[in-house]
Amino acid sequence: PYDGPSAAEILAKRQRHLNPCMTYLYTNPLYLVDGKMQYLFDESGRRYLDAFGCIATVSCGHCHPQVLEAILNQTKKLQHTTALYLNRPIVDFAEALASKTPGDLNVVFFTNSGTEANELALLIARLHTGSHDIISLRNGYHGNASATMAATAQRNHKYNVVQTGIHHALNPDPYRGIHGSDGPKYAKDVDEIIMYGTSGRIAGFISEAIQGVGGVYELAPGYLPEVYNSVRKVGGLCIADEVQSGFARTGSHFWGFEAQGVVPDIITLAKGIGNGVPLGAVVTTPEIAKVMTSHGYLNTFGGNPVSTTAGLAVLKVIENEKLQQNASTVGTYLKNQLLDLKEKHEIIGDVRGRGFLLGIELVTDRELKTPAPLETLHVMEQMRDMGVLIGKGGVHGNIFRITPALCFTKEDADFLVATMDYVMSKM
Ligand code: PMP
Repeated sequence: PYDGPSAAEILAKRQRHLNPCMTYLYTNPLYLVDGKMQYLFDESGRRYLDAFGCIATVSCGHCHPQVLEAILNQTKKLQHTTALYLNRPIVDFAEALASKTPGDLNVVFFTNSGTEANELALLIARLHTGSHDIISLRNGYHGNASATMAATAQRNHKYNVVQTGIHHALNPDPYRGIHGSDGPKYAKDVDEIIMYGTSGRIAGFISEAIQGVGGVYELAPGYLPEVYNSVRKVGGLCIADEVQSGFARTGSHFWGFEAQGVVPDIITLAKGIGNGVPLGAVVTTPEIAKVMTSHGYLNTFGGNPVSTTAGLAVLKVIENEKLQQNASTVGTYLKNQLLDLKEKHEIIGDVRGRGFLLGIELVTDRELKTPAPLETLHVMEQMRDMGVLIGKGGVHGNIFRITPALCFTKEDADFLVATMDYVMSKM
């Protein structure tokens, strides 16, 4: 049995010593002490079905035995080295990763986070093109350092500091966007930004395929092919932020951008790449990567043996356990169940996403699409009391995010839906 400090003691220490802008998902914060695959356990030993995967980060499952074993073995052998010496885990993982990316996207820069990966991608695009302007999407999230915070376009993730050269294009949002599901129409906004807001040359365009933090908005079909064309015509590079949508999460594809039929110039990775171990990566072509040779790129922990060993183990588990197939089958099943739930409960305005990157938007009025943040929090808290953890997002805090580990089963999906149905029926 657990004999450590109570949740209240942990909370008091956190409030005293940790950064004051940290928020909790629940009014009464949940204290976690153990994790096993799709389950989490609190200090009383109570089990929760984790349908949030700690923000799409737990790809294989909490403390997945094979990933864990690989990490432990490597840690005992050689935990850290600098990239100034040769070591095996970094090259093995880079090679395996490159075998999963299309075309000649086969040069990897390792980082420790998604922010670092996107910062580096933006830097590479700027150096390679000699241009400064970057276009990103409204409602996107790309990180918390200067360039990535500028590229992020959500009020609650920005600070009022001067960040030049970043333009935010109309979000091709099929639910609330002015052009509905017409991707090519939204793409014209990128042409207009290039025309009116830049010198006519840009460094690049960055976007997620499905906006995660923003509330699971899948870009309208046909959007990326048009935009990538426009960007390349003016010398820019196309950057796909696959931090949430990569590593088989969307089920239909291994990478999120594949659903739009495009091939980016740079791909950025983090979160699910290491199943919870700090790891990020930028993957690009040899030709584009070359620009960094004249400047160098030093990252002490980026690509360290333990993290890259975890990365390789994750790729093997995804393959051996057919997790992409599972994300597709169970994710589609879950989405259909949620669509049925929408028929039953007026408060569900939209169900969207792919595989295990699903969003449910709650509104008090379906016509006006009035966000329902209070009801969202209520449902989330009640579901937690019944043993199911889901996430929340969007600028209004009215969108559930369902991003479980890829081992989530059909029975787990049934339990989640039954719980949500029960809570909504009582409202
Ligand atoms: N890009 C996307 C799409 C993300 O969701 C996140 C994290 N929420 C980031 C980048 C930044 O990653 P990190 O928190 O590891 O810096």
